[in-house]
Amino acid sequence: MSDTTTTPDIFDDAIKRLDEAAQYTAIDPEALEKLKHPKIIIQVSIPVRMDDGSLRIFDGYRVRHDDTRGPGKGGIRYHQDVDLAEVKALAFWMTCKCAAVGIPFGGAKGGIVVNPKELSRLELERLSRGFIRQIADFIGPDTDVPAPDVYTNAMIMGWMMDEYSKLNGRRTPEIITGKPIPLGGSLGRNDATGRGAYYCIKEYERIKGWKPEDITVAVQGFGNAGQAVARLLHEDGYRIIAVSDSRGGIVRPEGFDVPSLIHVKNESRELRAVYCHGAFCELVQADSITNAELLELDVDILIPAALENVITTANADKIKADVVVEVANGPTTSAADKVLRDKEILVMPDILANAGGVTVSYFEWVQNKAGFYWDEADVQQRLHKIMADEFNAIYEKAAHHTIDMRTAGYAHALDRIGTAIESQGTQSYFRGDG
Ligand code: NAD
Repeated sequence: MSDTTTTPDIFDDAIKRLDEAAQYTAIDPEALEKLKHPKIIIQVSIPVRMDDGSLRIFDGYRVRHDDTRGPGKGGIRYHQDVDLAEVKALAFWMTCKCAAVGIPFGGAKGGIVVNPKELSRLELERLSRGFIRQIADFIGPDTDVPAPDVYTNAMIMGWMMDEYSKLNGRRTPEIITGKPIPLGGSLGRNDATGRGAYYCIKEYERIKGWKPEDITVAVQGFGNAGQAVARLLHEDGYRIIAVSDSRGGIVRPEGFDVPSLIHVKNESRELRAVYCHGAFCELVQADSITNAELLELDVDILIPAALENVITTANADKIKADVVVEVANGPTTSAADKVLRDKEILVMPDILANAGGVTVSYFEWVQNKAGFYWDEADVQQRLHKIMADEFNAIYEKAAHHTIDMRTAGYAHALDRIGTAIESQGTQSYFRGDG
């Protein structure tokens, strides 16, 4: 089956994983059916006064996929390619992710069709506040709690929290997570997604008896999540030999000095192979590489950390990595998944590998509600326990049924979602035979 000649609807493709995983759980068919339909979808138009005085209207979406286990939870994406199918898929993945790691949230997601690089900072602020005004009746600390995603950040979360607080008539930090620390953000949220993936890799390192210095890594997408996982692996001695951003990548078989790369990327927005001593940076030798080439490098660990649908049937058979760690949401299509499985490539699925972000978002929400703030070591320790426990539960389920980790991850999530939905009664209960 191809996934490139006709682009599949990403939501339809995403929910294909449910039926396969359901074979390994006792989930009621009604509960499974419920998960194939997002609970609420809202589409809004956001008028924004641009700096030159003109008016532009932007399209925005918020989807609450399921809230049986708790308020909907999920980020807001700013990207020119955002569409409803994508937001539905991302919301569905959030439902599965929160259940996979056992935090008491459902799934939601939002997005605005915009290239944020074309907007001034003032225009971005007006757009962000405008979006919140349009969806304010639809979100809430106990109904739907947004967060950052691609091309949104802590400052944008701060504007959104402020706008919601004004509408709500009281300061409401628990409406949104990923906020700046002084506005109620949690310590440890900034690198939580990458750190969660890192804890998964560390569990696998323990199982395989890896020596970090023998392991090579390529990271596609050197943003918030990609930088954090690269930095943590580098600190342990892993060799990060390739990284990329939207404009392309660089490769260096000896490995990069990751803190220097991060420093230069965040100062200049350019990805350059450098080595920095304090404020002094010098260029080091590296070759340019396309994003497509990066995916096909002969590395031990491949980390897609940018956008979805980058591993398809067009390139899956060329992937040479032994392990794919899905820091991005949905980087692998369901058809490509089968190819990777046949090649015995271990895929740590997105609903596990990138769940560190939403886990610390949950911690942030708890801290905002309690008005009591934890130190960073406390956040990391709690995150570590959740990621290691859930990684091992999913890894053991996969081994027990001889299935891949994605199917096991979904089955693990369905165990939790299924029992929650069934607790409200299914046909067999109402018929009197359950
Ligand atoms: P980000 O905006 O900080 O970084 C994205 C990076 O990807 C940037 O470096 C950008 O240049 C690069 N990029 C964009 N288009 C690309 C392309 N076509 N090819 C290669 N690189 C490209 O975003 P982020 O928060 O790091 O999110 C990255 C991925 O991780 C997304 O799939 C997101 O849904 C997922 N994720 C993020 C979090 C989080 O807490 N930030 C949580 C869970 C999942």
